[in-house]
Amino acid sequence: MLDKNSFFIKEIYSWFLKNQRNLPFRNTKNPYKIWIAEIMLQQTRMGSVLNQFENKYAKFIERFPDIQSLAESNLEEVLHYWSGLGYYHRAKNLYITSKILLEKYNGNFPINYKELIELPGIGDYTASAILSIAFDLPYSVFDGNVNRVLFRFFYHTLKPYQITKVKHYAQHLIKELKGKPSIYNQALMEYGALICTPKPKCNLCLISKQCDVFSLSPQEISEIPPRKIKKKQELVFFVYIIKKNNKILIQKSKEGILKNHYFFPYIEVKNFPNSELSLQENKIFLGIIPHSIMHYKIKAYVFITENLKNDLSNLNLDKNENQWIEISKIQNYLYTNFAKKIFRLYILKNKELYFKW
Ligand code: SF4
Repeated sequence: MLDKNSFFIKEIYSWFLKNQRNLPFRNTKNPYKIWIAEIMLQQTRMGSVLNQFENKYAKFIERFPDIQSLAESNLEEVLHYWSGLGYYHRAKNLYITSKILLEKYNGNFPINYKELIELPGIGDYTASAILSIAFDLPYSVFDGNVNRVLFRFFYHTLKPYQITKVKHYAQHLIKELKGKPSIYNQALMEYGALICTPKPKCNLCLISKQCDVFSLSPQEISEIPPRKIKKKQELVFFVYIIKKNNKILIQKSKEGILKNHYFFPYIEVKNFPNSELSLQENKIFLGIIPHSIMHYKIKAYVFITENLKNDLSNLNLDKNENQWIEISKIQNYLYTNFAKKIFRLYILKNKELYFKW
C-alpha cells in the first residue's frame, strides 16, 4: 500500500491527465507564454473570469508573441493591451523585465531560480511556474489553491496553520515526485480550482479516503484556515468630467490608489453621506458607478461641469499631471476599467456617441 504522500501525488497526477481543461495558456512549454499567463492570472479567480482572461491573453500574445516584441514596444501600448486586468504595475514590470531579458540574457529566460527572482515582477510563484512548467524542474508552484488542498488533506501533519509550513511541505512533496513537475504542479492547482474549492466538492473527490478532514461537513471544512477573511474597504469618490470646448480634462495622479493612471479629476469624500452633495450645485450629477480595485470597493459619484473655477480648488489640479484631451481621442488614455465605466456613463448621458468605445 502506498504511503500518504505517494498516494496523494499519484492520484492527483493521474486525475489531471484524465480531467485537465483545455486551457490554451496552459498547453505550452514556452517560458515566455507561461510567464505572461501566470502574471495575468495572479489575483484573479480563474473560474469566474476565464473567458475574459483567455481573450485578453490571446490578444496580448498575438501582439507581443515573444520577449523581443514586448521589449521593443512602448509602455503605453503594453498598458493598452493589459487594459481591464487591473494591477497595472504588473504590466509595467513585464515590460521592464522583457528589456532586461533581451539585453542581458539575449532574449531568453535564465534557467535558474536565483536569477529569475532578481527580475522585476518575478517572485517565488512565477519563478517556480516558469522552471517547473517550461523546464520540468522540481519547484513547487504555491498559490491559494495549492495551499488549501495541502492544508486540508494533510491537516493532522500541518496544523496549526502556518503558511510557511504548508509551503515547505509542498516543496518536500515535489521532491518525492516520480513524474513531471509540469504535470503535477498544474494538477494540484486544477484540483484546488475544480474539486477542493473553498466550498469543497468532497463527494467528487478521488483522494477523500485519506483526507484528514473528510469526516467534517463541507461547511466545517470551508471554515478551517486558510480562508479568505479580508473585507474590502469602502470608499466614496466624487469624480468630475470637466469640459472645455471639445476637450475633457484628465489627470495622472502622483499618489493614491489611482497612482500613475490617467483618470478624471476626483476627490475622496470622507464620512459620506453628509452635506457634500449640496456643494455640487454648479455641476450636473450624472450617476453613480460602483467599482472594485484591489482591496477597495469604490462608489463613484460622477459630475459634469464646464466651469473649472467653481469649487474645484480641492482637486489637486496643480499637483497632478493634467491634460486636456479631445473627446474623440480620450480612449487612448483611459485603459483602466474604472475610467472606461465613467466615460461610458458620460457618453450615455450625453446621448452623443462620439466614437465606438
Ligand atoms: S475530501 Fe474534500 S477537503 Fe479533502 S481533499 Fe477532497 S475535496 Fe478537499
